[in-house]
Amino acid sequence: MRISRDHPRFVSLRIRELLVKGLQDGIVVPEGLLAHGRGEAFDYLIGERTGKAARRAIEAAGAALLTANSPVLSVNGNTAALVPGDVSKLASLISARVEVNLFHRSLDRERRIARLLSRYGLEKVLGVGANASEEIQGISSRRKMVDPTGIGAADVIVVPLEDGDRAEALVKSGRKVIAVDLNPLSRTSQAASITIVDNVVRAFPGLVRTVTRLKHMRRSSLEKITSGFDNKKNISMGLAEMMAYLRRWRMKA
Ligand code: ATP
Ligand code: MG
Repeated sequence: MRISRDHPRFVSLRIRELLVKGLQDGIVVPEGLLAHGRGEAFDYLIGERTGKAARRAIEAAGAALLTANSPVLSVNGNTAALVPGDVSKLASLISARVEVNLFHRSLDRERRIARLLSRYGLEKVLGVGANASEEIQGISSRRKMVDPTGIGAADVIVVPLEDGDRAEALVKSGRKVIAVDLNPLSRTSQAASITIVDNVVRAFPGLVRTVTRLKHMRRSSLEKITSGFDNKKNISMGLAEMMAYLRRWRMKA
């Protein structure tokens, strides 16, 4: 289907189209479409733009990634379908490893995702098949298996569209967890160390821009950014922004 750029819901329709194509290509699973539905409802409530709180979280995440010893980007089907280029760009900017980690695991889908990312310049994708040989304690789904050289060895990990169990377990294991989740109330958002309440299609390009800007800063300045960031407070400020946005709608009604 051709969507006209003038269509008022062009961006939203384009995202849906990418996910449907991802489903046809064996990258996305049907459950991923449902997860997206939940996400886009929240996107509506924040005005489909990156607010102040999200920008602050992106800055803290950028600083945390640049000061990490072993940063890892965890990628699932929806993320691969929506932002493969930005995953690759971000990984090369911060020398991060990229690992496939799926809730609905299959070797075929892991390989397809790795192949898709390699078309966007990523030479190595971890977590495919038997390479995910280490178990993270406290997770019941098959997401518990990770690559010992990737998430297994990571100190900072970016988890877009995560499920709550794994986010909680990764935080418990002592890792710094950066979540990208449109729902500020999800267990993932509540458990993460830094929660970016924004759509991955805006958050990832935002992370790429931010890391490019912060890259030449001194380590001490970057550490000041991360230590000055309070996640609970930031989520609460994001909710206040959301309510202010809804209040403006109430005035219009
Ligand atoms: P949790 O397990 O953390 O409590 P959940 O069970 O409500 O969350 P899941 O189905 O596990 O949700 O994960 C999907 C999450 O991803 C949802 O919170 C949804 O808001 C979010 N999400 C979906 N699409 C996007 C997107 N494009 N950008 C950012 N977040 C998204
Ligand atoms: Mg869940």
